[in-house]
Amino acid sequence: PLTPTQQKVFPRYVRVNTLKIQVDEALRQLVEEYGEESVKKNPYLDDVIELPPNVTDFYGHRLVRGGSLVQQGLSSCMPVHALEPLGGDWTLIDACSAPGNKTTQLAAHLASAGEAGGCQGKIFAFDLDPIRFERLRKNVRHCGAGRIVTPELRDFLGVDPSKEERFREVRGILLDPSCSGSGTVHSRGDYLIAGGSKNQERTEQDKRRVDTLASFQEKCLRHALSFPKVERVVYSTCSIHVRENEQVVASVLAEAERLGFELERALPQWPRRGFPLFEGCDNLVRVNPNKDKTDGFFLALFVRAPR
Ligand code: SAM
Repeated sequence: PLTPTQQKVFPRYVRVNTLKIQVDEALRQLVEEYGEESVKKNPYLDDVIELPPNVTDFYGHRLVRGGSLVQQGLSSCMPVHALEPLGGDWTLIDACSAPGNKTTQLAAHLASAGEAGGCQGKIFAFDLDPIRFERLRKNVRHCGAGRIVTPELRDFLGVDPSKEERFREVRGILLDPSCSGSGTVHSRGDYLIAGGSKNQERTEQDKRRVDTLASFQEKCLRHALSFPKVERVVYSTCSIHVRENEQVVASVLAEAERLGFELERALPQWPRRGFPLFEGCDNLVRVNPNKDKTDGFFLALFVRAPR
């Protein structure tokens, strides 16, 4: 376990589920309850509100229980913002989606992108873990996203747009595959692989595990880029390892360019960028858990013209 000084205390972030409540109304209610000095809008993401870390028992808060607010870390809210702008009638995929925090956020953004009076767009949300999939289904219902999101218990790598017509028109893909989770070590307060290992054998095991994960992540990213009509693909991890982040992007870059994609500057205002492994790494986003008051994170945005 981490010592109390190693453990980080982040602000309590809540995401406003705009399928159920407007941001200003959520702010108003929180200010009324906790006072103006305790409630802040996040300067980068307009659906995220920050409360002091000592606000306890927020799970039981009426707005959380009712699905209007979602307890979701700041970095976890970034990929959906990076995927924008979306057309309100787009078909999207959330490739590895359980428990569905990003899925339900994506649904809220898709609904806002649509014409007033109903969302024409849809999201296919996949996961292959049956237990996590049940949490996804509940979460989608709880957040009021059932009309927009179709959860499917299946392997994203087996989703083949040449065999299933409904996936041929997919224009955006959010890809947040399994990773080492090394960016979340401090907030979870447990030991994972944040370089804390003193035992050589353990370190070797960790390295092999990260390599295996990275090969899987590369496969998923190649697969996402292969969808015939896809224009925007966001790849994200809650890892701080170069192997799962910049190196995964580097490994698909030539193929991505051949397919017409470019790495676009994601979340342009966010100051911390990718490690300079290749030209264009400042288009990538990094979150440093020691400096950014939220879990370690990484994301990349691939964009190409409509086809
Ligand atoms: N995006 C989720 C959220 O924000 O709530 C978290 C996703 S978690 C990092 C990765 C998920 O990918 C896990 O739930 C795991 O079961 C799922 N997964 C792993 N391999 C998969 C595959 N081949 N196809 C679909 N889902 C997969």
